[in-house]
Amino acid sequence: MAEQKGKILVIGGGISGITTALEAAEVGYEVILVEKNPTLGGRVSRFYQYFPKLCPPLCGLEINFKRLKPNPYIQTLTSSEVDSISGTPGNYKVKIKTSPTYVNEKCVICGKCTDVCPSERDNDHNYGMDKTKAIYIPHRMAYPARYVIDREACEPNCSKCAEVCEYDAIDLQMQTKITEIDAAAIVYATGWRPYDATKIENLGFGKVQNVINNVMMERLAHFQGPTQGQILRPSDNKKIESVAFVQCAGSRDENHLPYCSSICCLASLKQARYIRESIPDAKIYIFYIDIRSPGKYEDFAAAVQKDKNIFMIKGKVAKVTQGKDNRVFVEAEDILHGGKVNLEVDMVVLATGMESSLKGVPQPDAVQLDENSFVAPNMQINGILSAGVAKFPGDVNSSIQDSTGAALKAIQTVVGN
Ligand SMILES: Cc1cc2nc3c(=O)[nH]c(=O)nc-3n(C[C@H](O)[C@H](O)[C@H](O)COP(=O)(O)OP(=O)(O)OC[C@H]3O[C@@H](n4cnc5c(N)ncnc54)[C@H](O)[C@@H]3O)c2cc1C
Repeated sequence: MAEQKGKILVIGGGISGITTALEAAEVGYEVILVEKNPTLGGRVSRFYQYFPKLCPPLCGLEINFKRLKPNPYIQTLTSSEVDSISGTPGNYKVKIKTSPTYVNEKCVICGKCTDVCPSERDNDHNYGMDKTKAIYIPHRMAYPARYVIDREACEPNCSKCAEVCEYDAIDLQMQTKITEIDAAAIVYATGWRPYDATKIENLGFGKVQNVINNVMMERLAHFQGPTQGQILRPSDNKKIESVAFVQCAGSRDENHLPYCSSICCLASLKQARYIRESIPDAKIYIFYIDIRSPGKYEDFAAAVQKDKNIFMIKGKVAKVTQGKDNRVFVEAEDILHGGKVNLEVDMVVLATGMESSLKGVPQPDAVQLDENSFVAPNMQINGILSAGVAKFPGDVNSSIQDSTGAALKAIQTVVGN
């Protein structure tokens, strides 16, 4: 093996970053994996099931965590972000800032701290649909498996969690830490966030009760979600009889996201299955422009659409407004049959697309972004690479393949300069 000139820094601990880190480290190259949240796993750790096989993503993540844990070549820094990048291509000096979580590695997740904690905060893992205590574990499969304290949610001068902890795991004086490293290659695997649906004025998100987006739908179906997997109407937890999905909510639209995120059609078809399996008599209406289910996903899309309770309506939704008893009105056109459709349903799910996590976030000079804030493809000449959705929206499978390629490119950079 050729000598390694500097470490491989992977920014972002979602499925793409984890894959890049593992692929490089499992052939003996030193990697630092930096994740801004307190746990690895990224967006997929919040999904109920993956299309097309409808298996739980937590299984795949668990396998990856088992590979990560014993690997001596990977150092994982969670609650961490890159503070600065300086130096020259292939010889970067990077400062990494780790924020205090106030709980150290002695935590055994016994839960006594959370029992005595008097304060609550919005549960960001469930997109604010329920609460956690101020001391919380991000989710049951969190890596590292450790509680975290949201100090902004704590009552002033409260130290009940520290008093009850038998393992000396709570350090309320924990400070921000700066780590400096030499990196020969830097891989951006920073992924995506859901497009802010409140910007799509006519679709009612944030104004009309029982209008949610597709990432919230994943949590509603999940057994660790706000309703423990029972798909209930968010405003009053009533049984749902009908749901409308609005495809391309803000996507392929010059005023919002000009591109197609390529997975929203498949995500809605998958979520239609969640609802049909949970509520056998529920009716689902999917308003679409065209259904995009490329290559191997064709069979999955066709199988779901055969369901007699799933109605596909080709046409754009013009307006979503509040109906009586918290029901939701959907006004749309029906291109295939002509005319307008007026529908009243219990819940509307907006199929919003993936926006780059880097949008609006200042980046070091060495990093170039394209017009939609994804990492520009020519970056590899600087020893700065990208993997998965940091480069462009896609499914998990293509993100993993791309990340394996990024690991190879990173190895070539660290031995070649
Ligand atoms: C509603 C919906 C359903 C989907 N369902 C499926 C499905 O069933 N099957 C499928 O194949 N695909 C699905 N996808 C696509 C899937 O979500 C992506 O392919 C996958 O998330 C890509 O992983 P990633 O690691 O590239 O990005 P992410 O999952 O976004 O991970 C990026 C990580 O980087 C971290 N990060 C971001 N910025 C920084 C920073 N500055 N510093 C440090 N860390 C940072 C984030 O916190 C995150 O942990 C779905 C997408 C949507 C919108």
